[in-house]
Amino acid sequence: MIYLDNAATTVLDGDVLAAMLPYLQSNYGNSQSQHAAGRAAAQGLISARDRVAAVFGCKAEEVYFLSGGTEAGNLAVKGVCSAHGKGHLIISAIEHPAVIESAKQMQNQGFEVTFIKPDSRGIIPPEEVEKAVRPDTVFCAVMAANNEIGTIQNVQKIGEICTRHGIFYYCDCVQSVGVVPFPVGVANAFAVSAHKFHGPKGVAAMYIKSGSKIQGIISGGRQERGLRGGTVNVASAVGLATALEKAVNGENNAKIASLRNTFVKRVLTEIEGTHLNGDPVERVPSNANISFDGCEGENVLFCLDLKGICVSTGSACSAGAVTPSHVIAATAGETYAKSAVRFTFGKYNTAEDVDLTVTALKEIISKIRK
Ligand code: PLP
Repeated sequence: MIYLDNAATTVLDGDVLAAMLPYLQSNYGNSQSQHAAGRAAAQGLISARDRVAAVFGCKAEEVYFLSGGTEAGNLAVKGVCSAHGKGHLIISAIEHPAVIESAKQMQNQGFEVTFIKPDSRGIIPPEEVEKAVRPDTVFCAVMAANNEIGTIQNVQKIGEICTRHGIFYYCDCVQSVGVVPFPVGVANAFAVSAHKFHGPKGVAAMYIKSGSKIQGIISGGRQERGLRGGTVNVASAVGLATALEKAVNGENNAKIASLRNTFVKRVLTEIEGTHLNGDPVERVPSNANISFDGCEGENVLFCLDLKGICVSTGSACSAGAVTPSHVIAATAGETYAKSAVRFTFGKYNTAEDVDLTVTALKEIISKIRK
């Protein structure tokens, strides 16, 4: 199998699994319990939080463990809205559905939302964010790097605008670990999800700046300083910390970028009617999102799958209904959105993977077009 879907999820790193095992098998206590088993788990949790805080560059009490990037997006949007009761939100039109759908829900509850369109390269212009600011703006979300086309946003500038206007800025960093520095100085909150960088699924770490106006959305026990009820998954928190420490220096970026660049160059020159979606330079090293004229992205995906090559389309598939990607539709238009395929490279890919995928694509695209 050739796995080129690393933006969807990644394989668990062996060191991460080894770090997690003691908390699954021997130190399995509830970190809230007051006996020795609980204390052993609590020690693991304290250390995981300290390690994440060291990587983020923040205080340990500003790190929260959640169930994933989706929960982080929900908490940011709904938690800030709930703390304010009313107001206006600024949301980039190419956010992950966790943020977009939460914002739409808040719209239904009376909040006003301005969605900021990207330019044709997939970049959210900071000046458009500034123009959208109103006296009652309470929240802004612009992600660090997009999950579909990989474009990197000007987080620093957007954060500065929000700071100047006293607006809570949430920056989704799920796709930018090891590529974009964490926006500790300018964001009120940001989050990473372990399964995107060779950690376990179902765990995220979220930075929330002390003193920020936000309320929890999951009621329960007093876990996570009362912001997020529910027994903490200590093994996963330890796994996230270990995976984050390994990923944050971006030591594989050059290798990944080189594979991706060779792939893009070959596809664009060896297959006619192909277009790279997103900015060619301002993008994460792993991402190549390409539209194939005259092809449906899903057909390309299925044909590649038959040859053992895993990719994804620019489309979100829910309950059997395929809708063209809102991200590519907003940047390059509906036609490119329907014919888009996302290839995302990782540290375990090889030059041979690139070669075999280009060869397979040449055959598949020509067959589909006939
Ligand atoms: N945000 C971005 C940019 C993502 O790519 C994803 C996952 O695809 C998420 C949020 C959701 O993360 P999780 O899978 O941990 O819920």
